[in-house]
Amino acid sequence: MFQAFLIKYGEIGLKGKNRYVFEDALVRQIKYALKPIEGEFAITKEQGRIYIEAMGAYDYEGAILALKMVFGIVGICPVILLEDEGFDKLCEEVVSHLSSYFSGKSVAECPDSFKVHARRSRKDYPLDSMEINMQLGERILDAFSQLRVDVHKPKLLVSIEVRKKINLYFETIPGLGGMPSGTAGKAMLLLSGGIDSPVAGYMVAKRGVKIDAVYFHAPPYTSERAKQKVLDLAKIVARYAGPIYVKVVNFTDIQLAIYEKCPHEELTIIMRRYMMRIAEHFAKETECLGLITGESIGQVASQTMKSLAATDEVCTMPVYRPLIAFDKQDIITISEKIGTYETSILPFEDCCTIFVAKHPVTKPNRNIIKRSESRLADQIEDLVKTAIDTTETIRVEAGSTW
Ligand code: ATP
Ligand code: MG
Repeated sequence: MFQAFLIKYGEIGLKGKNRYVFEDALVRQIKYALKPIEGEFAITKEQGRIYIEAMGAYDYEGAILALKMVFGIVGICPVILLEDEGFDKLCEEVVSHLSSYFSGKSVAECPDSFKVHARRSRKDYPLDSMEINMQLGERILDAFSQLRVDVHKPKLLVSIEVRKKINLYFETIPGLGGMPSGTAGKAMLLLSGGIDSPVAGYMVAKRGVKIDAVYFHAPPYTSERAKQKVLDLAKIVARYAGPIYVKVVNFTDIQLAIYEKCPHEELTIIMRRYMMRIAEHFAKETECLGLITGESIGQVASQTMKSLAATDEVCTMPVYRPLIAFDKQDIITISEKIGTYETSILPFEDCCTIFVAKHPVTKPNRNIIKRSESRLADQIEDLVKTAIDTTETIRVEAGSTW
């Protein structure tokens, strides 16, 4: 029934001279999202909107699902294209399409008020916009007794655009919002197998930031399945954020050295500081502008403000922590919405949970931490170098199942 989609975008319309950069990025992302969908689509930019026309039969549900995952889209309007066969015929078509639209809804879901909003991009049409509004409005009133006109807050907006063909749409499916991927530079996500970091990556990606990821793996203490779980999470985030390069760092020897030489209550902080240092190394190498973590104040000992300050200290790049003030339940709600939750709660071990102290420090003193780290002086440089040199990079992309 719908042969085209009108894509509405919000914020990117405000970008002044850079606007075309954002629009082009959005078109690119839409193309990418529709690639696995059955059907062929022509995508064009037009006066503050993007227009997608299906070239023949296509998978409607799949296309909607794909478009609902594109950052930057505020609304998706499925469009019915009608031949211009006179105004009378147009009114008939609109009434007939509206009745099939209503027939799919329960009485409670059916709108009780409406307004017609007509636009003409070709001025040779015999009626002007006001006349279309009035006359089509009357025909709709005649056909549906439950409807009344409300010009201020209509529950149903019947939009008509007179172009070469006539475009009819009356539904706007909400999109994700945000900014098109890749319009705001790139950042390196510290991605673990937990609930928080995939959500953190998603949130920053939603602002248009491209994501690379680094995962610290500690075989044999963490299994292949734990690594696969992280890659699966990256794959889910990639549905929204586009392809992600995941760096898998073998962290075992660094962790063992810390475990052997440093006070156990400081293990997590020191470990986290090395993770940040290594993540920053890769971030610089791949032209990332910042690091991203899933930390939130007070969630665990290593995330008190003092602990966060101790972790921050080793970085020269900004560290973005989008979940910093979120409660766990709020984070869970987002992870359920984006589809990472079920994977995150699979019970595979995490390197942080294996080398964890019974009584970790919650108010680390930075000088004491530095002194503890100095016990690693004779070997840590080599260990970090080996970890970096043996890092495996895996390109993760969303499968065709979405
Ligand atoms: P998450 O649910 O993201 O694992 P968490 O509540 O388990 O978070 P921590 O284990 O303290 O919290 O980790 C805090 C942050 O440090 C994580 O959100 C992630 O960004 C990073 N991190 C922790 N472990 C790893 C790891 N093995 N590899 C990469 N990053 C990690
Ligand atoms: Mg974790």
